[in-house]
Amino acid sequence: MSTPVLQTHELVCRFGGFVATDHVNLCVQAGARHALIGPNGAGKTTLINLLTGYLTPTEGRVTLLGEDVSAMAQWARCRRGLVRTFQINQLFGDMTVLESVALSAAERQGLGGRWWKPLAARGEALDEAAAILQRLGLLADAYELTRNLAYGRQRLIEIALALAQRPKVLLLDEPAAGVPTSESRELFEVIAQLPREVTILLIEHDMDLVFRFAERISVLVSGALLLEDTPEVIANHPRVREVYLGE
Ligand code: ADP
Repeated sequence: MSTPVLQTHELVCRFGGFVATDHVNLCVQAGARHALIGPNGAGKTTLINLLTGYLTPTEGRVTLLGEDVSAMAQWARCRRGLVRTFQINQLFGDMTVLESVALSAAERQGLGGRWWKPLAARGEALDEAAAILQRLGLLADAYELTRNLAYGRQRLIEIALALAQRPKVLLLDEPAAGVPTSESRELFEVIAQLPREVTILLIEHDMDLVFRFAERISVLVSGALLLEDTPEVIANHPRVREVYLGE
């Protein structure tokens, strides 16, 4: 039996008189490889911001593992396992890859800025970081400064930072944006191999990547969910073809 891990219930977000999210009922099942697609301005970013707590809904609820998190701060949702990737360049460019990921693990362990003490905890964070880097094929880059890596590798480190938060649900917001095609393939091969304990909700513009990765796809149009189904059904749906291909 499938279990929903992340759900929205009649979620609405208005900016003044404009409805950016229109009674959305999104349901992401445990272990899913679920993608959210929609043309520009469909409301994907707004929906992600409502899920993570960056925005507060005008109406409706968000539940994580059955718990109502609608009024919860971003960090509290993160502690409960809802983790999104974030732009690395602003934060960790002058640290090595290993340090960056260890800092994320230390932060989760509650050590925060005092991550260098106690020493045992620092060792634990470093060990955890090394294990994550190994899983993502990044161990060879452990002692590189993150800003010196190719862009595709940097985007992988964003995923490593998120994994160090031990996510139950990982929100990947355009992980391949700005990444050259050859590197984005590699990126998605790594993402596809993440363990099933981590449920993934992906937002991605590149339909080729979406259709190769996702098992369920939700289509958002003008703030409302048009449909949710398998990639095969979505690809052949007349309304989706109309929205995407102008047919
Ligand atoms: P997408 O990510 O699918 O491109 P967005 O969620 O960014 O779509 O935007 C959906 C709609 O909401 C757009 O028309 C956008 O202009 C509008 N919008 C987004 N954020 C705000 C805001 N803070 N204030 C007013 N309108 C906004």
